[in-house]
Amino acid sequence: MGRPLKHEFDAVIVGAGGAGLYAALESSRASGANRTAVISKLLPIRSHTGAAQGGIGAALGNIEEDKPEWHAFDTVKGGDYLVDQQAAGILADDAVRAVYDLEKRGLPFSRTPEGKIDQRRFGGHTRNFGEAPVRRACYAADRTGHMILQTLYQQCIKNDVSFFDEFQLVDVLIDGRKCIGIVALELATGALHVFDAKAVLIATGGFGRMFRTTSNAYANTGDGPAVLTRRGVPLQDMEFFQFHPTGIRGMGILITEGVRGEGGILRNAKGDRFMEHYAPTLLDLAPRDMIARAIVTEIRSGRGVLGDPAKDDYVHLDATHLGSEVLEKKLPDISDFCRTYLNLDPAQKPIPVQPTAHYGMGGIPTDLDGRVVADEQGGMYEGLYAAGECACVSVHGANRLGTNSLVDLIVFGRRAGRHMSEFVNQADLVAAPADAADPTGQMLDRLGKQRGDEQAEKIRASMKALMMDSVGIYRRGDEMAGAVRELQSLRQAMKQVRIGDMSKAYNMDLLELLELQNLLDLALVTAASADNRKESRGAHAREDFPDRNDGEYLKHSLGWLEDGSVRLGAKPVDLSIWEPKPREY
Ligand SMILES: Cc1cc2nc3c(=O)[nH]c(=O)nc-3n(C[C@H](O)[C@H](O)[C@H](O)COP(=O)(O)OP(=O)(O)OC[C@H]3O[C@@H](n4cnc5c(N)ncnc54)[C@H](O)[C@@H]3O)c2cc1C
Repeated sequence: MGRPLKHEFDAVIVGAGGAGLYAALESSRASGANRTAVISKLLPIRSHTGAAQGGIGAALGNIEEDKPEWHAFDTVKGGDYLVDQQAAGILADDAVRAVYDLEKRGLPFSRTPEGKIDQRRFGGHTRNFGEAPVRRACYAADRTGHMILQTLYQQCIKNDVSFFDEFQLVDVLIDGRKCIGIVALELATGALHVFDAKAVLIATGGFGRMFRTTSNAYANTGDGPAVLTRRGVPLQDMEFFQFHPTGIRGMGILITEGVRGEGGILRNAKGDRFMEHYAPTLLDLAPRDMIARAIVTEIRSGRGVLGDPAKDDYVHLDATHLGSEVLEKKLPDISDFCRTYLNLDPAQKPIPVQPTAHYGMGGIPTDLDGRVVADEQGGMYEGLYAAGECACVSVHGANRLGTNSLVDLIVFGRRAGRHMSEFVNQADLVAAPADAADPTGQMLDRLGKQRGDEQAEKIRASMKALMMDSVGIYRRGDEMAGAVRELQSLRQAMKQVRIGDMSKAYNMDLLELLELQNLLDLALVTAASADNRKESRGAHAREDFPDRNDGEYLKHSLGWLEDGSVRLGAKPVDLSIWEPKPREY
C-alpha cells in the first residue's frame, strides 16, 4: 500500500440513500457545500432507498381524518412497546412537514382528483387508536423511494455537495470517544483515502443479505455498523429483524404491502382469507410480524398451496379483484415484476408469496439528534452520528410499520444533519495521525496473503442458511446457541480464504470478502442478542418463550463484539406517553 490520500472536511457523511442525502442537504446548507462530503460505495441513485415501493407515512388527513398522535400510537403499538415514545412522537409530528417538504422540492406524488397528495392504507396504521385502517401512506405509484432518492440527489447536486462515489468505508477513526474521520477504499484504483472530519455520519443502510431469502439489494451488507462494532461501539436491539410477509416465492423480491393497502387479500390453498383467524379487525393490514407468522403457521399446518410444509411451500396474494386498471395505475412496477419474474398477470392470477427478510429494526444506538450512544449509562461519542436503517433511535422497536422507514430517513436524517452542522461550527478539526490508515492497509495486505482453501461463497451460503433456519421467523434457544457457535467458526474460516483476484481496480473478490466479514460480525451480534432475549416480542418470536415478558425484558439490548464473543447489556425504553398493553389487532 502506498501512502493514503488525504482530505479535510467539516462533515463526512457515509451513505447516499435517503438518510445520508437529507443529512447532506442540511449540513451543506448550514456549513457550506464544500465543507460537506458524501462517501458512497454505490452511485448515489443506486442506493436501496430507490427500491422502496409502497409509501411514506404521514397523517396529512387528505382522504379521511387522521392525526399525528394516532400515527405515533400505531408506531409504538406496532413496535410491541419497545419503541422510545418521544422519538415516535417526533417521527409522527415531523412526518407531515417532511412530506410537504419533499413535495416542495419537486417529488411527484400520486394525486387525488382534487390535486392533493393521495394516500393509501398500510399495515398497522389505524384511526383512533386501533379502530380501523386509515389512509396514511403518501406514495408515488409504487416508486416512492425512487422518487425520494432522485429528488434529494438533484437537490444535493444543486447545493454543490462534494460526492465521492464508489468509495468504500473501511474504518472509522475514533480517539477515545471522539470521532476524527474515516478511512475509505477507492474502488476504481484500490487506493486508500483518509478523510479528516469534525463530524462523521454513518448512513450505510440495511443488512438483510445475512439471510438466505431477502428483499434487500446486494449492497445491503451492514458495513457501517460492522466497522463501528469492531471499534467498540455497541449495537442496539439487533435481535429484531423484520420478515416482510410478501416476497415473490423462491426469490424474496418484494411485493409491496401497498398491494394489500389497495385491497389485496392473502389466501391459503383452500382460497380462505386466513388472516380472519389471526387479526379479525385489521385482517391483511395487521403488522408484518403477525402476518409473516400467520403465513408460516398456515404452511406448517398443511394449508399452503402445495399442502406440504417440507416443500418450500407458499400462499397466494390475490389482487385479481383490483382489476388491471388499478394495478397498472397504482402498482405498475409490481405488475411488471409479476410478468418478468413469474410470467403472470396479477389481474388474472394470484401471486405466489413467502415471507422475505426485509428490515433491521436494530442498529447503531443514537439519541434524538442522531448522536451515537456509547454505553448503558447514556454516555455519548463526540462527532459521531448515525441515521437511517443502520441506526436505532428507536422508532421501530420490535417491529417496524410499513412506510415508517422512509419517514425515519427524512425526519432523523434531517435532525442529525442539523445537529452536526451546529456541532462543526464550534468544533476544531483534529488531523488524523500520519499512520491512521496503517491498520487498514495491514488488514488488506493480510487478506491478500491468505493461503487456505476455504471458499467465501461457501461461508456466505452457510451464514445465510444458519440465519434463515435458526434466527428466522420462529426461534428456539438451542438452535440460536448453535448458530452462535457456528457463526464463530465461520468467522475463523474467513482467515483461510484465498483471494483469487489481486488486481487494484474494482477488485470484487476483495470487496465481497470485506462485506462478508461485516455480515458475519452483525449476524453474530444478532444471534447472540436473540438467544439472550428469553421472551417473544414483535419480530422476535420464540417457540420456547411464546409470551411477551415486560417484567424482565421491556428494555433495549446493547451488544458489544469483543474478541469474537458478544457481551450484552441493556438500556431503558422511553415509556413516557403510553402504558404497554397486550397487542391485539
Ligand atoms: C425492496 C424494498 C422496498 C421498501 N419499501 C419501503 C417503503 O415503501 N416504505 C418504507 O418506509 N420503507 C421501505 N423500505 C425500507 C427502506 O427503503 C430502507 O430502510 C431505507 O431506504 C434505507 O435508507 P438508508 O438511507 O438508511 O440506506 P440506503 O438507501 O440503503 O443507502 C445506503 C447508502 O450507504 C452506502 N454505503 C453502504 N455501505 C457503504 C460503505 N462501506 N462505504 C460507503 N458507502 C456505503 C451505499 O452506497 C448507499 O448510498 C423498503 C426496502 C426494500 C429493500
